[in-house]
Amino acid sequence: MSLVVALVAVVAVTLLFTLFVRPQDIPPPDPVSPTRHLDERKAAVYENLRDLQFEYRVGKLSDADYAKTKLALQKELAVVVAETEKVLAASAPASSQPGSSQPGSAKPASAKPAAAKSASASLGSTKPVSAKLASAAPKAASICPHCGAEFATPLKFCGECGKEMS
Ligand SMILES: [Zn+2]
Repeated sequence: MSLVVALVAVVAVTLLFTLFVRPQDIPPPDPVSPTRHLDERKAAVYENLRDLQFEYRVGKLSDADYAKTKLALQKELAVVVAETEKVLAASAPASSQPGSSQPGSAKPASAKPAAAKSASASLGSTKPVSAKLASAAPKAASICPHCGAEFATPLKFCGECGKEMS
């Protein structure tokens, strides 16, 4: 009996999933672009231009006809492009307006002095001079106080002059 209940539950859950969850998983159909009809017109003009060029090349058109039709198509293309830009400017006025302040762009970056802190901490009890050098060049973990050689890893003795690093 419990098996039947379990089966019914599984079926019910599956049905619920199918009926209510799945439609939400499916991404909504592409929102109709405000420039979609213009894009289609532009594509059509380009296609006409291609056809025109082909027909002209195979000798179906006279020079005058070719020039006339090409000019007309280019004019239409210019109109479509201008309309597209108009629609885009109207649909996104915030981004196209000059001087509109964008929030978050002028936030001051608060840099923490963690690099200098860790540099002096890793050096431990070093002379003030070498600590100063280390903070000036934080990528070197160890600097010889005698010859000034820099080392990426902390050393007990200098690899250049052989003297004690501390
Ligand atoms: Zn040295």
